Amino acid sequence: MTDGPRTAAPTIAAVQHVNEQVEALSGRRIGLFGGTFDPPHVGHLVTAVNVRHALRLDEIILMVANEPWQKVGSRPLSSAAARLAMVEAAVADVPGVVAGRHEIDHGGPSFTADTLSALAQAHSGATLFTIMGDDAAARFETWDRYTDVARASTLVVVDRPGAPVHLSADFAWERVEVPRLDVSSTDLRDRVRDGRPLDYLVTTPVLTLITQMGLYREGG
Ligand code: ATP
Ligand code: MG
Repeated sequence: MTDGPRTAAPTIAAVQHVNEQVEALSGRRIGLFGGTFDPPHVGHLVTAVNVRHALRLDEIILMVANEPWQKVGSRPLSSAAARLAMVEAAVADVPGVVAGRHEIDHGGPSFTADTLSALAQAHSGATLFTIMGDDAAARFETWDRYTDVARASTLVVVDRPGAPVHLSADFAWERVEVPRLDVSSTDLRDRVRDGRPLDYLVTTPVLTLITQMGLYREGG
């Protein structure tokens, strides 16, 4: 053997470092957009597709809360199964936006901190984003283990119509501009009860499900 030029063998630490960088670069960018979705409407969909585009996310998960513990008791909620069926119908044809059933499968009250941990385990190397409207962002510090949520994900906020809200300066909010649509599930439920039209405020498959399942006709 002749003595050629020698290169130092990379250390194990150096190899691990490179591996981590490759993983981080190839890791997926996943947005968690949680809600009650009772029912899902165009405000949710326009937010999802525009945030996905603006932040170059691979996927946005519309995560259906099993028990939205901050809402339970304040009004009758549609079953988790009904809300999941509507979200699945709403996103069926939307590239890169999927319905999430993790919180329903997990059961009990739904906490974003737990859902983010599960997502991080399921998608190692992924960068996670937690997406919310500004009404939800204003109440962020009422969330269970909100500091864990802020550590595990980038907090993304979109404006909803109405007076601007105060956001805690303790967090690095990523603001995304989306068309502001004055649509809420509360108004949609009122519309069904009053017999007013929901057309164009929800997608046609969602409207069909609301009618088939007889949702929102009374109470709520
Ligand atoms: P409800 O009136 O029953 O509270 P909602 O329309 O606010 O329903 P949620 O399921 O409570 O819908 O909201 C889930 C998430 O979607 C929250 O982060 C909320 O801020 C956001 N969101 C709801 N409607 C809009 C909208 N029109 N534009 C942007 N974000 C929205
Ligand atoms: Mg709401």
